[in-house]
Amino acid sequence: MKIIIIGGVAGGASFAARLRRLNEGAQITIFERGDYVSFANCGLPYHISGAIPERDDLILKTPTDFKSAYNIEVKTGHEVISINKEKKTVQVKNHSNGKVTEEAYDKLLLSPGARAFIPSMEGYRADLVHTLKTIPDMDKIISHIERNKVNHAVVIGGGFIGLEVAENLADKGIRTELVEFADQVMIAFDREMANILHNEITARGIRLHLQSSVKSIEQLPQNKLKLTLNNGKTIETGILVSAVGVRPESDLAKDANLKLNEKGAIVVNENMQSSDPNIYAVGDAIEVVHLVDGTKTLLPLAGPAAKQARVAANHIMGLMSHEQRIQGTAIVKVFGLTAAVTGLNEKYLKRVGINYQSLYLHPFNHVGYYPGARQMTLKVLYNKNHGKILGAQAVGANGVDKRIDVLSTAIRAGMKVTDLQDLELCYAPPYGSSKDAVNMVGFVADNIEKGLVRFLSPSEMKRFPQAFILDVRTPEEFKCGNVPGSVNIPLSEIRSRLAEIPQDKTIIVNCAVGIRAYNAIRILAGAGYKDLYNLSGGYKSYCNETQKCNDACCGDKLDELPHAKATSCCGAPVTNNDSAFDFELNLSGLQCPGPVLSLKKKLDEMSVGQRLKAKVSDPGFIKDIPAFCESTGNKLLNVKSDKEYFYAVVEKGMPKQMNRTTESNKKTIVVFSGDLDKALATFIIANGARAMGADVTLFFTFWGLNILRDPKKFSPGKALLDAMFGMMMPKGAGKLKLSKMNMLGMGTAMMRYVMNKKKVDSLESLIKNAVDSGIHLVACSMSMDVMGIKQEELIDGVEVGGVAHYLNNAEQSNLNLFI
Ligand code: FAD
Repeated sequence: MKIIIIGGVAGGASFAARLRRLNEGAQITIFERGDYVSFANCGLPYHISGAIPERDDLILKTPTDFKSAYNIEVKTGHEVISINKEKKTVQVKNHSNGKVTEEAYDKLLLSPGARAFIPSMEGYRADLVHTLKTIPDMDKIISHIERNKVNHAVVIGGGFIGLEVAENLADKGIRTELVEFADQVMIAFDREMANILHNEITARGIRLHLQSSVKSIEQLPQNKLKLTLNNGKTIETGILVSAVGVRPESDLAKDANLKLNEKGAIVVNENMQSSDPNIYAVGDAIEVVHLVDGTKTLLPLAGPAAKQARVAANHIMGLMSHEQRIQGTAIVKVFGLTAAVTGLNEKYLKRVGINYQSLYLHPFNHVGYYPGARQMTLKVLYNKNHGKILGAQAVGANGVDKRIDVLSTAIRAGMKVTDLQDLELCYAPPYGSSKDAVNMVGFVADNIEKGLVRFLSPSEMKRFPQAFILDVRTPEEFKCGNVPGSVNIPLSEIRSRLAEIPQDKTIIVNCAVGIRAYNAIRILAGAGYKDLYNLSGGYKSYCNETQKCNDACCGDKLDELPHAKATSCCGAPVTNNDSAFDFELNLSGLQCPGPVLSLKKKLDEMSVGQRLKAKVSDPGFIKDIPAFCESTGNKLLNVKSDKEYFYAVVEKGMPKQMNRTTESNKKTIVVFSGDLDKALATFIIANGARAMGADVTLFFTFWGLNILRDPKKFSPGKALLDAMFGMMMPKGAGKLKLSKMNMLGMGTAMMRYVMNKKKVDSLESLIKNAVDSGIHLVACSMSMDVMGIKQEELIDGVEVGGVAHYLNNAEQSNLNLFI
């Protein structure tokens, strides 16, 4: 059997090796247009920076290796220029001497890959724009940089290759700008997940131009280029690398009248046979079928190419394989982060109208107490109708690959999201948690299924403009940033502050990542609240959704930097200078609010003017720290980052005095009068203030105590004087009289009649309202004693307190009335 293979890299080389293992007698020849077979194209970007130091390590096998190990003929520098499927021959051009020969085959494999697509640009010349597909492409980039001492680069395209190239150029110390046509990098991810990458990219010193394209190129002296973007911005640069995607290399197949799809990809069946059964095709050049929804698509990735090659070889040798379906599992390193994806994304699900649920979690890669724990953002999408997992995305420093691989396997197995609860995954402290992040997804979905919680993604919040947004984080966390309009009641105070949470509104509960919010929701549900939502992924996800981190906050400051790598992002001062410091605090491994709380604790111990350098691994800290310093009166001197950590130097400042008139929300009223009209005024003001979220204390003294007396209650065993005094005074709200126009009780009766008619709450119901809504009713112990009133005579919900109690409350309040 004569087998000819066109293209000797990922698909072609895998196919050749498999076929040889299945058939020792076949005559196998690989024609490869380039100078190298079986090279690591995925490793090319990393040699540019030197992360892969040895160029030769990229060459996985040479023609000699193929000959000696597999008895396979490899002809590099040989391009197949035509296929005659009727004659079963190909014409091959030898690039070293220009000779064209004809070769016969029994079976032909096409694995020609894809070619780099270049967007149209005025002034385009091939020699001005670099692409990265082959080892010679890489060599050209490296030598251009070295020859021209390039210190500034522009990369077009924020996909896998564009990001890898940009990172490696920046790692080489070259100031790099990335131009991306879409409003996000990595379009396989949803925008809010890509936002995490935007932050990382800009935090590491790359200027990101989203929704931009290069309109024109102009060559300047000394091999420099002037680029003009579609928005009019101009950039002078030393090198331009285009990585905007690939197109199937299918001209040969087209000329041979093989069936192509509308995107020019070769159409194959489940055995990888093209429209001609003797011609197989694999890799970047073919159309593939999506596992999750069966749509036809393209997927230029190495893994599918290798698997398709195996299927083709099996089929030629009469071995059956199951149909190859792809799910788009992919991963990319973006500086200190890893981003991985599998299955369908939310943008797509929305577009095609699938009924899905999205979940955000921010789990640790392993238990928090083992050093090096890092939090990731995990998004899982599943079908609301039948629970099957549709897709997942994760971004984080560590452990992202493991979670996405598990979820990818679960998708392949057709598992339901709730099945994830039962997966038994590796656990020991350095590797995971007893309840792994993937199990947690299952638990959360199970809670939804059982009706214990409902989730709302940050993007869905706009559906509820009237909702009460309850933030249950600590005040320190809240101060560092919050959802506009949200009300902060820490989880530990929820039970005692229920009165501040309206019963008649949709309540969206929010914490840092969703766990405390879930606990709060269970408390609220227990207290009878019905319309509750957990903000999925909490404030962390809200930030991912809303932040627009591009030129506006980071890129412009880049110009101030002498070096591309030392920078910060999003409001933190950008400086490259180290500040001296008195204390050092290692907060790595702690996640929000841990770093801020530990920082605060340490600052509290320090003297004004002393400096503290904090080392943090949580990227969220970089956004929290300016707000924290601003609200606490400390000074943020600088923020820096290296590959793994962020460093902030903070100078202890004068503690900020709380401004009583603006920051406090406490109100105190001394109720001295026992007149009906004054009691009414008291409770109307108090209930109003409470409804506006104030913490209200009413301090009843002397005649005011009569308002609190319960006519049904008695206190036996009173001294005669006390008993007589009690009988002479009005017993409770129902017995109070107007201060004016009482007219032997007629005025009071008229007032009550009119109030009732006009549906104004009676004093009794105003009092009940006050008690129910959490207004503190404090009876003055001293005047109770003087007037012979006992606590057991008072209505329920009244505390007894001394003047210190009142003064302490009045001290903290911004409104103090005497009625
Ligand atoms: P290729 O591996 O590209 O091989 C095609 C070969 O066919 C080429 O060498 C070409 O010269 C040759 N050829 C074409 N036409 C002819 C002809 N007429 N005659 C003779 N020879 C011909 N994928 C991942 O999954 N993960 C990654 O991290 C990743 N990183 C990448 C980084 C870079 C820089 C690049 C360029 C690609 C990366 N990929 C990655 C994609 C992956 O390399 C491809 O999906 C995979 O190589 C496709 O295999 P293939 O056999 O279809 O094509």
